[in-house]
Amino acid sequence: MPRPIQATIHTQAFVNNLAVARRAAPDARVWAVVKANAYGHGIERVFDGLRGADGFALLDLAEAQRVRDLGWRGPILLLEGVFELRDLELCSRLDLWHTVHCDAQIDMLAAHKTNVPHRVFLKMNSGMNRLGFAPDQYRSAWTRLNALPQVDEISLMTHFGNADGPLGIADAMAVFAAVTSDLPGERTLSNSAATLRHPDAVQVSDWVRPGIAIYGSAPDYPEHTAAHWGLQPTMTLAAKIIAVQAISAGAGVGYGSNFVAQEAMRIGVVACGYADGYPRICPTGTPVLVDGVRSRTLGRVSMDMLAVDLTPVPDAGQGSEVTLWGRAANGAVLSIDEVARQAQTVGYELMCALAQRVPVVVAE
Ligand SMILES: *Cc1c(COP(=O)(O)O)cnc(C)c1O
Repeated sequence: MPRPIQATIHTQAFVNNLAVARRAAPDARVWAVVKANAYGHGIERVFDGLRGADGFALLDLAEAQRVRDLGWRGPILLLEGVFELRDLELCSRLDLWHTVHCDAQIDMLAAHKTNVPHRVFLKMNSGMNRLGFAPDQYRSAWTRLNALPQVDEISLMTHFGNADGPLGIADAMAVFAAVTSDLPGERTLSNSAATLRHPDAVQVSDWVRPGIAIYGSAPDYPEHTAAHWGLQPTMTLAAKIIAVQAISAGAGVGYGSNFVAQEAMRIGVVACGYADGYPRICPTGTPVLVDGVRSRTLGRVSMDMLAVDLTPVPDAGQGSEVTLWGRAANGAVLSIDEVARQAQTVGYELMCALAQRVPVVVAE
């Protein structure tokens, strides 16, 4: 028998979450962002649930090839554009749209031999200072691109660094509007946080680019929960209890005896550890569902196991299901955001870190 741990990908949750994004941006088209192997879910596994998207956005050329191999003929956008000249040949061959964020990428386009001009997304650095042309260089980049026979339509793009928090997007919006107001072309501005929280950006977007919301995690947790936004978990990580210990007051649990029992209690040992992608940093008290009932972890997470408190679930024992995040068999949900918070990170990182050794199944 294989080790009793499994991740489940929920196809219908993708359908639901995509609909949430569409409701927030009813007049825009939606890129489903599937970079990083669909945020750790597996591109091939999420494809059925995301067929209703208008396009797929990612940044690895091999992943773009995989989306084409699935039969997708619609738009694919490379969010970081190309990395070297020969990448443009693949763009031509696979009909990939690509971001242009720096002069070197314009140089490559100028040197690219193609009969079919490319659709490009010219990116502005509107204050995040990651990728993109500075506002005062944006128009000259546009003019240069526009003069190239290798370039077809130019769309306008920026990315917000503060759509999820108190700083907001007003400054970035003002910069973007000032520089682009009289330029033609479609616009794409909003990630998940901006799509859900900033209707002003959505209003001027021809395309929105939700990622994390599509995967059922709130972009602005803990200010809002996934449930607040109507988002459903797309990934469940569940394992079984493989041993039960009855311990007395004063007994320690796990490496370092990090947890010491205050009174006699039953604990369950679960077949999930940090080598499965469950963060070792999660302290005692990190929420779990045992047979769908909320409980907590105890002591340090080991490589292959962790311990949970069985006090709230006296009927649980060997073979009981423990949901580390996602949806339990009884329908109860433990948001990945709650676990991520205990690990001092975000849901994105936990999804992306699901370990290779965990078997994954795709459900309805
Ligand atoms: C990753 C990414 C997104 C999606 O971001 P989320 O926060 O997951 O919604 C959108 N746009 C760009 C350029 C990205 O790199």
